[in-house]
Amino acid sequence: MTARIIDGNALSAKLRGELAAKAAELTAQGTQPCLAVILVGGDPASAVYVRNKVAGCEKAGIKSLKFEYPQDAAPADVLGKIAELNADPSVHGILVQLPLPKHFDEKAVLEAISVEKDVDGFHAENVGRLSQGQEAFVPCTPNGVMEMLKSIDMPLRGAEAVVIGRSNIVGKPMAMLLTAAGATVTVCHSGTRDLNFHTRRADILVAAIGKPKFVTGDMVKPGAVVIDVGINRLPDGKLCGDVDFESAKDVAGAITPVPGGVGPMTITMLLANTVESATRAARKA
Ligand code: NAD
Repeated sequence: MTARIIDGNALSAKLRGELAAKAAELTAQGTQPCLAVILVGGDPASAVYVRNKVAGCEKAGIKSLKFEYPQDAAPADVLGKIAELNADPSVHGILVQLPLPKHFDEKAVLEAISVEKDVDGFHAENVGRLSQGQEAFVPCTPNGVMEMLKSIDMPLRGAEAVVIGRSNIVGKPMAMLLTAAGATVTVCHSGTRDLNFHTRRADILVAAIGKPKFVTGDMVKPGAVVIDVGINRLPDGKLCGDVDFESAKDVAGAITPVPGGVGPMTITMLLANTVESATRAARKA
């Protein structure tokens, strides 16, 4: 059996088309959605992510503002900019690209962003709202995964879902979303004793580990949906996921590739959150 490929580029293109139409409608009504992006330091991967986010905005008719700070920037300057953007009614989303340099208190920076403009969904209040099933900005990567599962009509109620990884930005919110959708969720991590035992009984297996080709075909239940969140660079410069695509695709029922899987969906959901925030602002105006 060869798995169905869940094409993140195609799904993103469809969703971004819909978002562009919504953004145009809002703009015509006097509220152009606007995302402010803050980048601190010269991390090349972060610079690429920011460039892709800004380009995604432009293509969808969302205004973007980019603020760049040097590696040795004073945290107070960045916090001052966040306060300014919080108070600016023409800005609907604020994103601080992570990781921040070591001398920053990352938590304090994320908490400084207004909950209403926290389009990354990393603010503790948004996380709390999400955990209680209240309206919240959902972190973009796990939200993108949910859209991918929806696109293949994967029944979630009663499904066994296994998430490998328990980070705040992927693993934990992923588990919350799958739980809310009715799946029975197991979260595995670096302390899990018999990982294969868990992965082999998963109808939905989400890998968010940060280790190249870690999940091999023998760890996958035949017919399972395998979602590969990982983005790793191999010594030859090529990108690969946390799943060994070649062996897993022969066992899985459906699988996401890397690149072209979850990655483009993350930016799409960021655009969706920004448009949503602008819609809420327009309603209030
Ligand atoms: P992280 O380093 O914060 O978390 C990794 C998790 O993997 C940890 O919870 C750890 O317990 C678990 N883990 C590590 N070794 C393990 C093992 N041997 N067995 C079981 N679990 C193990 O990483 P993250 O920020 O959650 O990112 C994970 C991956 O997803 C990375 O490759 C990252 O680049 C990628 N990522 C992709 C997107 C995207 O848009 N596609 C977004 C965010 C992160």
